[in-house]
Amino acid sequence: MNFKKSQQLYKKGLTHMVGAVNSPVRAFASVGGNPLFIKKAKGSQITDVDNNKYIDFVLSYGPMILGHRHNKVQKAIRKAIKNGYTFGASTENEIKLAEIVCNAFPGMDKVRFVSSGTEAVLSAIRLARAFTGHDKLIKFAGCYHGHSDALLVAAGSGLATLSIPGSKGVPNDAVKNTLIAEYNNLESVKEQIKTHKDIAAIIIEPIGGNMGVVLPQNNFLKDLQTLAKENGILLICDEVMTGFRSKFGGAQELLGVTADITCLGKVVGGGFPVGAYGARNEIMEMISPLGPMYQAGTLSGNPIAMASGIATLRELKRQNPYDIFEKVGERLKATMLKAAAENNIDLVVNRFGSMINPFFTKEAVTDFKSAQTSDTKKFGIFFWEMIRNGVFLPPSQFESWFLSSALSEEDIVKTEKTIYAGMKKVASIR
Ligand SMILES: *Cc1c(COP(=O)(O)O)cnc(C)c1O
Repeated sequence: MNFKKSQQLYKKGLTHMVGAVNSPVRAFASVGGNPLFIKKAKGSQITDVDNNKYIDFVLSYGPMILGHRHNKVQKAIRKAIKNGYTFGASTENEIKLAEIVCNAFPGMDKVRFVSSGTEAVLSAIRLARAFTGHDKLIKFAGCYHGHSDALLVAAGSGLATLSIPGSKGVPNDAVKNTLIAEYNNLESVKEQIKTHKDIAAIIIEPIGGNMGVVLPQNNFLKDLQTLAKENGILLICDEVMTGFRSKFGGAQELLGVTADITCLGKVVGGGFPVGAYGARNEIMEMISPLGPMYQAGTLSGNPIAMASGIATLRELKRQNPYDIFEKVGERLKATMLKAAAENNIDLVVNRFGSMINPFFTKEAVTDFKSAQTSDTKKFGIFFWEMIRNGVFLPPSQFESWFLSSALSEEDIVKTEKTIYAGMKKVASIR
């Protein structure tokens, strides 16, 4: 396998692009080496510009849950594109996607479409503040909620890997209302509530995905919902990653909780830029044109993106792949643990539904702090061995791998073999 063209493009890209990427996790900074440039993808496979083929567990960081270019999605996009690209006026497909989304999430009577997860979350925060009249938020260390100022505090993945505390350029004033609690630690939330009376919302990834996969333990989410309710605080579930992925109704369906406000992204657009936030009527009626909270978007509800979202969600519902994801995920977890044990490597694997994540550590990973005990060097070695054997993984210890329903038995067997090769390589370099 050679990466000659990728290397050439990378060098060329550096001239007019920052680090030759438009999003920092794509830069391979935490695994070393240069990023791959991709030519195309179909089904479970992705192909780089040097014509190397990989089984894709990145799936554009989640959206491509059906695999790439599913026939039905492709057809819907082609049809939509014939009618125009964007109109600055409502279309019937927006109503159709809104109906699918609201039916999947019982806490949502109404939804507003935007163009990214970041936008969905920052709008949801504004909405919680508008509705409660309070300014403060509680967020959890290691949770990532997009790159808006107020939420770039103790945020996972890209930032976790690079160990950057927040970000330069975010004024202190922008984060002074952001209170931090620890994931899976209800007491840490109670303490914040005790000291601060004016809290608008608690925002959480109901299944942590941006510090690596971290599961809510016991009744953490349910307890959080109760605690929020008792204190007149809104619970915002950021399901940008988990929505339609953990279950069709997201982590909320899986865990039996209902958020006051739900944020969506990734899968909801099936590969096109769509984000969404929604809630019950009394909350959503705060938003312009019904209410005093302003939020807008030139390309919001874009017709091509709506067509892609509708086709993706309809097909996803028809396939109902969640039991299969569970089985495949469990199988890959068992393989990783076995391969690690045979090579005397400390490994913890966290998984839930179609999100899975090996941590090179011996500590149980339950929050940001324990995730940080992982040996990122070992992950880097493992990552490159997987790449060289045709398995495309997120280039970071702290990013979830995603499963698509396009994975074949052959793909899984090949991935398992490659996992053994990867662990062997890690052991050989120690
Ligand atoms: C990806 C992600 C976001 C940000 O979405 P973008 O579309 O990248 O802006 C927000 N929250 C969570 C939980 C995410 O996984």
